[in-house]
Amino acid sequence: MRYRPIPECGELRMDSFDVVVIGAGFAGLVAARELALRGHAVVVLEARDRIGGRTWTDERLGRRLEMGGTWVHWLQPHVWSEITRYGQRIEPSPSSQAVHWISGGSAHRGSPEEFDALISRGMDQLARDSRTWFPLPYEPLHRTDLDQVDHLSVADYFAGLDLEPAEREVTEGVWAEHFNGPAAVSGYTQAMRWCAAASGDWQLLHQATSGYRLTDGTAALAGAIAADGGAELRLGSVVASVSQDTGGATVTTADGTGVRARQVICTLPLNVLGTIDFQPALPAAKLAASAERTASQGLKTWIRVRGEVPPFTAYAPDTHDLTFVRPEYTVEGDTLLVAFGTRAADLAPDDVGGVARALRAWRDDLEVLDVSGHDWMTDDFSRETWPMQRPKQLTRYLAALQEPHGAVRFAGSDIATGWAGFIDGAIESGLRASRAVQDALRGPRG
Ligand SMILES: Cc1cc2nc3c(=O)[nH]c(=O)nc-3n(C[C@H](O)[C@H](O)[C@H](O)COP(=O)(O)OP(=O)(O)OC[C@H]3O[C@@H](n4cnc5c(N)ncnc54)[C@H](O)[C@@H]3O)c2cc1C
Repeated sequence: MRYRPIPECGELRMDSFDVVVIGAGFAGLVAARELALRGHAVVVLEARDRIGGRTWTDERLGRRLEMGGTWVHWLQPHVWSEITRYGQRIEPSPSSQAVHWISGGSAHRGSPEEFDALISRGMDQLARDSRTWFPLPYEPLHRTDLDQVDHLSVADYFAGLDLEPAEREVTEGVWAEHFNGPAAVSGYTQAMRWCAAASGDWQLLHQATSGYRLTDGTAALAGAIAADGGAELRLGSVVASVSQDTGGATVTTADGTGVRARQVICTLPLNVLGTIDFQPALPAAKLAASAERTASQGLKTWIRVRGEVPPFTAYAPDTHDLTFVRPEYTVEGDTLLVAFGTRAADLAPDDVGGVARALRAWRDDLEVLDVSGHDWMTDDFSRETWPMQRPKQLTRYLAALQEPHGAVRFAGSDIATGWAGFIDGAIESGLRASRAVQDALRGPRG
C-alpha cells in the first residue's frame, strides 16, 4: 500500500496521496505508472468495475472481442512504445478482396483498387491540404491562421471540391466512418490532423487506423501498464467533486469518500467533464467544449453471420444506419463482422433486427445470427465514442482544454496533440500530464 492515512482535514480523516488520477483508461494508467515509478504515492479512482475505459476486451459471440478501441500501428509512437515495453504482439486484420459501396442510391461492388480510384481525388487533395495546414502534426496550432479553414465541416469541404457526385458521396461516407459521426458536424481540420499524423498519406492512414490489432487484446496492454509502478487502483469509485485549496485538492467520490492530494490528473472524456463538480469552477472554455460535445455519436457492433465469408469491406454514406462493415474473425465455422454507424440514437449496437436490416443495404446474402456491442453514447462514463472535433473546436478549445486548472491537470485522448482520438493520443496525453505533475511536485527550485 502506498497511501498513508493522514492527519486531519477538519474533523475527517482522509487518505492522502501525492497524486490522484481520475480514470483508468490508457491516459490515466500511463500517467499513474509514470508517477508511481518515480516514487510518488498515487491512487487511481475509476468509476467502472474494470480498467481500460473506452477499450474493453470482452467475451461476446463466441470469442474475445474489442468493444471499443482496437487497431494500433507502428506509426503511432506512444502506443508502439508501450507494445515494445510489455512484449505485446500485433496481427493483421483480414485484407479485403472486394469492396461494396453505395452511391446514387444503389449498391456497387468492385476491387479495392477500383474503390481507391473512386475516392483518390478527394483524399489526395485533403492529404495535400493536411501537409500545408499541419506541417508539424504534433503542433496542431502551429499555423496561426487556422480560423480560415476551421469553420468548415468535412461535408462543406468535399462539396467545395470539383468532384463527380459519386466521388463526393463515397469519399464523404469514408470520412463519416472515420468520425463515427455525420459529415456535416465533422471538422475538416480534424480530418487533416489525422492525415498529417500519417505524414500526409491517406492510404497509410487507413492502414494505421484499421490494419493491425493487438493479438492478446487491448486488455492485456492495459493490464500490463496497470501492474507496473505500484499505483493504487480503486475501482467502482465515481468521482463526484474536486475541491481545491492552498494545500492541494480533495477528491470526493459519490459514496462520500474523500481523498487528499497535492496534484490531480483528470482524464475524463470531454463529454462527461461537466459531470464533476469542480471548486473553483472550471473555466468557461472547458465547460463550453464539454457542453458542445464531440462530433462522434455513432456505434460499433459485432455481427455473427452464418458460414465463412471471404474478406470484403463495405462503405455507405452517413444517411445509412451502418457506414462500414468488414469480416474480422471466423468462429466455429461462422464469420464475425465488425461494423460502424454514425448515429447510435437511431441504431443500438445490440439491435439484431436493425443491424440485419442495415447490412442488407450492401448484402442480402448474409444470414445474421446475432449481434453484440456496447453503447458508448448512453454510457455515463463516456457519452462519446472516439473523440473527434466539430468545426471550430480546434481553434476555440484545444489550447484551453490542455491548460491546468490550479492543481488539476488534464489528460485524455480528447485533448491529445498528435493522434487525438486514438489509444496513442491517450498515452501521449498521460505522459504529458505526468511530466507536468512531476515538475509541480518538485517545486519551483526543482
Ligand atoms: C467504439 C470505439 C472504437 C475505437 N477504435 C479505436 C481504434 O481502433 N484504435 C484506437 O487507437 N482508438 C480507438 N478508439 C479510441 C480509444 O479507445 C480512446 O481514444 C482511448 O481509449 C481513450 O482513452 P482515455 O484514457 O483518454 O479515455 P477513457 O478510456 O474514456 O478513460 C477515461 C476513464 O475515466 C473514467 N471515468 C469517467 N467518469 C468518471 C468519474 N466520474 N469518476 C471516475 N472515473 C470516471 C471512465 O470510466 C474511463 O475509464 C475507439 C473508441 C471507441 C469507443
